[in-house]
Order: sequence, then C-alpha cells, then structure tokens
Amino acid sequence: MAGAETRGDTKPHIVFLGPPNAGKGTQAMRLAATLGIPAISTGDMLRAAVAQGSELGQRVQSVMDAGQLVSDELMAELVTDRLQQDDARDGWLLDGYPRTRPQAETLVGILADASLDLDHVLLLDCPDDVLKDRAAKRAREQGRTDDDPAVVAERLRVYREQTAPLVEYYEAQGLVRRIDGDQSIDEVSEAVLAAVRGDS
Ligand code: ADP
Repeated sequence: MAGAETRGDTKPHIVFLGPPNAGKGTQAMRLAATLGIPAISTGDMLRAAVAQGSELGQRVQSVMDAGQLVSDELMAELVTDRLQQDDARDGWLLDGYPRTRPQAETLVGILADASLDLDHVLLLDCPDDVLKDRAAKRAREQGRTDDDPAVVAERLRVYREQTAPLVEYYEAQGLVRRIDGDQSIDEVSEAVLAAVRGDS
C-alpha cells in the first residue's frame, strides 16, 4: 500500500494456555528462543515485582500467595505496557495471559489497536494427578510459596473454572492446538514446534 508504514510483523503472535505445572514456562522459553520472539510470562513479571518490593509487588503478593488471580484491570495495564516495548514489535508469545474472558477481550483490543491477528493458541495439558506431583516437586526444589499443596489445588480450581473456558472461546476461532504435556520435556518441545509449523 502506498505510503503505508513498513511493519515488521512477520513473526507469530502466540498464546500459551494450560494448567499450573503443565510445563508452559519451560516450553514457552524454548519456543520463543527458537522463533526469535520474546516469551512474556505474566507470572514472572508479577514475581519480579514482588521480589523488588515495588508498589505493584506489594499489591499482588497476598493474592498470588493464595492462588487467586490478580485483577483484570491491573493485568490489562501490565500487559498493555509490556506489549508496547520494543522487543515485542515483531511477534511475541504470551505465557499466563489471558486467564479470564475479560482478559481475552482486552487482548482483542490490544491486537486490534496494532492491526495484528493472533496466530496460535497452544494448549498444554496434563492430568491433575501429574500436575499435583510436579507441584510438590517444584515446591521442594524451588520453594515457590504458591506451590504449597493447598495453594496448588486452589490454582488448579481457578484454572479449571476461569481459564479453561477460554479453550472453547479460541476453538471457535480455529486457533487451538492441543499438546500432551505428559511427555518428556524434549518430546513436548517437538510437539509444540510441530503445532506451530502446522504439521501436527
Ligand atoms: P502457573 O504456574 O499457575 O502457570 P504463573 O507463574 O503464570 O502460574 O502465575 C503465578 C500467579 O501470578 C498466578 O497464580 C496469579 O496469582 C498471578 N497471575 C499471573 N498471570 C495472571 C493473569 N493473567 N491474571 C491474573 N493473575 C495472574
């Protein structure tokens, strides 16, 4: 188009969905590195704020420790700002956002404002007993306070209640690729790559 700005938007825009401990963080980082796009984890952003003791961190800490969701309004602000940063100009992978229907709608607005389409929604899922075993192991190894068994059960409940319905929402748009998270890390990575390349 004459006079149109040249946009660098040739790389994909990906949302990663899945219950806590399905392995999203690991796979998001691997896939993002392979594709040369940033892996944007809202959980990591919030944990960094808590670790810094910033005002945001102080506001969200008790909510996270209880396994509850941070408010949609606050998340909208955080994600809108993050997606405006330079490294997010050509493709991104969102890990941990959206987690509710209003968040999915916020993302629609962000995409529309930037004239972008979502390319893939990857759903990494695992049976609940596997998720709980992994959480117990991570609690021992990394000491994340929200990996305490009672909090894990709550995070899983919140996921099934508020986030899982997004699968249908995105399925209606033909975007969902399901990946079995109950395999080795390398096997999951292969399945993830195949899904993005459209040959699974
Ligand atoms: P998980 O291990 O469950 O995938 P994350 O590391 O993505 O968890 O997030 C940890 C916590 O951060 C969540 O339990 C929640 O309190 C908060 N959080 C992260 N992303 C969001 C979001 N999009 N909306 C609300 N809260 C969020």
